[in-house]
Amino acid sequence: MHTDMLIGSKFDRGTEAEEAILNPRTGKKILDLPEASHGQIEAAVNAASTAFGSWSRTTPGERSGYLLKIAERIEAEAEEFARLEALNCGKPINAVLNDEIPAIVDCYRFFAGAVRTMPGAIAGEYLAGHTSMIRRDPIGVVASIAPWNYPLMMMAWKLAPAIAGGNTVVFKPSEQTPLTALKLARILADVLPEGVVNVVLGRGETVGNALINHPAVNMISITGDVATGKKVLQAAAKSVKRTHLELGGKAPVVVFDDADLDAVVNGLRAFGYYNAGQDCTAACRIYAGPKIYEKLVADLTSAVSTIKYAQADDTENEIGPLISRRQQERVASFVERAAEQKHIEITTGGKPGEGGGFYYQPTVVAGALQEDEIVRREVFGPVVSVTRFSDVDEAVSWANDSDYGLASSVWTKDVGRAMATAARLQYGCTWINTHFMLVNEMPHGGLKQSGYGKDMSLYALEDYTAVRHVMIAHG
Ligand code: NAD
Repeated sequence: MHTDMLIGSKFDRGTEAEEAILNPRTGKKILDLPEASHGQIEAAVNAASTAFGSWSRTTPGERSGYLLKIAERIEAEAEEFARLEALNCGKPINAVLNDEIPAIVDCYRFFAGAVRTMPGAIAGEYLAGHTSMIRRDPIGVVASIAPWNYPLMMMAWKLAPAIAGGNTVVFKPSEQTPLTALKLARILADVLPEGVVNVVLGRGETVGNALINHPAVNMISITGDVATGKKVLQAAAKSVKRTHLELGGKAPVVVFDDADLDAVVNGLRAFGYYNAGQDCTAACRIYAGPKIYEKLVADLTSAVSTIKYAQADDTENEIGPLISRRQQERVASFVERAAEQKHIEITTGGKPGEGGGFYYQPTVVAGALQEDEIVRREVFGPVVSVTRFSDVDEAVSWANDSDYGLASSVWTKDVGRAMATAARLQYGCTWINTHFMLVNEMPHGGLKQSGYGKDMSLYALEDYTAVRHVMIAHG
């Protein structure tokens, strides 16, 4: 297992406070990893600044070649990456190997192609005697800070468009899930020129804070909690750094009476509980029409009670545990408070799982009302609430009545109703008769307090590059 950070072309062990890296399936320690010192953070930022000079002048075709090599190397070591991610996050091995790794490899490949064909306004004589053209140039050193729920995938979403766009990066994984980032660092050091990507370890309030306040960092890209995003904005304000924020979510799922109930139940069983619900797009806040509500609650309850977890043979598991004891307690406290409400019924689950791991039972909270905490706050666990609505206006206003604006879905057989409802939802993404599905060609990102950075797609390349106008006088 690799334990050293990547600073320039050197591998270096952190020298400061140690963080215990745990296996969430057992609660046992895997190893301790020390965080970066002030001097090591300085060295990483300096290495990225130095590398920017030549990296920013490489051609899109050259950068594309590097990205394709990274993709190939991850693919070649897919099983080892999946094993490490499963160990560190508690994810079922099949989910990492079959769902996450192919999407990660494809992310590098997508940006390898996209950067060679970036579209834009055409050059021309918009002022007589002068030719104008648009350039898209790199921004500089990007501090990229990732969360724990999809460590290697968040790394791909951040690194691929940043380096494709000609930027250099200092990357900090979550202090809880650094193992795949450290493994990828070895590949990056092999493939990329020195300093283009640096990987430092540490907690948010120490290493993360030093990065976001660093004067030589030109852009901050962070995926995390809304509270963390606000701290990033405060730090960025001091020197007016560009920011790319991907924050939380509380996805509404509007189910009309005419929806295909089996499809809804299968969808919710999969998309409400995938990754144990630790997903900012999780289908967690259901609004069901008056006629479908009872049957939906009954069928969802039966379906959710069959979700397999905590099996000794991991290939049988559909979901894993939560990331930490703290997260497990947090989820449990949300459900306990919900269960105290007279109008709420916990129809399945509702308790922490047994044993030493950080499991929580897949849970359905029926009868929830719009003002309930369980409907309003991000639980980030395998917990789905169901609320009955009376008409479309009520459903749309409740769905939009949230601080978050990341993802949503609408379930109906009526195409017109689907399109009309989708148009009224204030979310970065609306799925119709599905949920959760992402593709590298399409953007992922939010509105409101979910942030405003776009990951994946050409929109991410736009976020990681600056629009510039060059004008030439003819005479
Ligand atoms: P978090 O905000 O605690 O941590 C995210 C990262 O930020 C970590 O690397 C952490 O070390 C760092 N950090 C924390 N405080 C910092 C500070 N003061 N300065 C600099 N860096 C700091 O979030 P988390 O608990 O790791 O992740 C879960 C959250 O992420 C959830 O709220 C979830 O909704 C959100 N999330 C959002 C998306 C999205 O695309 N919108 C995707 C995944 C997760």
